[in-house]
Order: sequence, then structure tokens, then C-alpha cells
Amino acid sequence: MIKIEVIKGDLTLEQTDAIVNAANNSLLGGGGVDGAIHRAAGPELLEVCKKLNGCATGEAKITPGFILRSKYVIHTVGPVWKGGYQNETGKLKLAYQNSLLLAEEYNCKSIAFPNISTGVYGFPKAMAVELVREVIDEIKPNLKNIDLIKFVCFDNENFQLYLQVFKTNK
Ligand code: ADP
Repeated sequence: MIKIEVIKGDLTLEQTDAIVNAANNSLLGGGGVDGAIHRAAGPELLEVCKKLNGCATGEAKITPGFILRSKYVIHTVGPVWKGGYQNETGKLKLAYQNSLLLAEEYNCKSIAFPNISTGVYGFPKAMAVELVREVIDEIKPNLKNIDLIKFVCFDNENFQLYLQVFKTNK
């Protein structure tokens, strides 16, 4: 059984085996949660990211967490919302799927996600949380190592939406 937890808080403080970064294509840091992760992990994270040659939208790459409490950071790139005309939903799904599969490959038992693409990238929050629920339902049978998936919401709107959809709280 995979446990799903929804909390309101700061992803950089999580102690899960992996935390997921809502990165950009360069993987060289940015604003929002990306900037917060780089600040909290220390400068070595950027040095390792420089060697990864960026990341395509919907794909995921893994690095150590350095001085973070989590062992790994999984960097994925969600789509920029363009009105729904550029397969943004398909790309956001891929970002979640690929992050989970990479965590599995690295034997992670627990993983924490931010609300990818729903900040500066402008993906509608209510649509995103429904899509996340679908992805989790679909991929669950393929996850053998992961037993905890945490959604760490930063803003109240996402937190309320996630509570409604997952009906769980810590
Ligand atoms: P994107 O460019 O993918 O939209 P953002 O970082 O702008 O990425 O926003 C993604 C989500 O991360 C937003 O819901 C934002 O509120 C949230 N966020 C920002 N900082 C943190 C943090 N320290 N911990 C968790 N979530 C955060």
C-alpha cells in the first residue's frame, strides 16, 4: 500500500529519500521552489547540475541532495501553460511519471513533490491536482519500492485542492 500525504510547508525541509524540483530546461537554478532547493542544498548542487546538459520538458534527472535532508533531488521540468494548446497536460503527466520511475530506479521508499508548473509556469491548479491523482492511480501498480508519496503545498490554494482530492492530512 502506498501512503499519500498532503502537507502545507517548505519542500526543502523534507526528509523523504527524494524531493522533486520543479526545475527549468537549463537545470541551472531559477526562482520559486527551484531557487529554494539550490539555496538549501548548497553550491555543490549547481556544479553537478552544470554537467547534466539540461533537461527536456517532461523528463527527469537525479542528483544527490548534498546538505539537504533528502538523499536525492529529482529535477523535472513541467510545461509552461499556453492555454492548453500545446499538450501541457501530457507533458505535466510525464514529469510526474518520470520522477516516480527515477525514484523507483534509485530504490527510494519515499518521495516529496511540489505542485509542479502551478507557480510561475501558470498551469491551472485545479486541473493539475486532478492530473496528479490520475497519474498516481495509473502508476501505482508499477511502484515496488516507493511506499510514501508526499505533496508539499506552499500556497493555501494548492493545499486546499490537494486536501479535497486526496482527503488526507498529516
Ligand atoms: P513552476 O515554474 O514549475 O511553476 P514554481 O517554483 O514557480 O515552479 O512553482 C511551483 C510550486 O512550488 C508553486 O505551487 C509554488 O507555490 C511552490 N513553491 C515555491 N517555493 C516552495 C517551497 N520552498 N516548497 C514547496 N513549494 C514551493
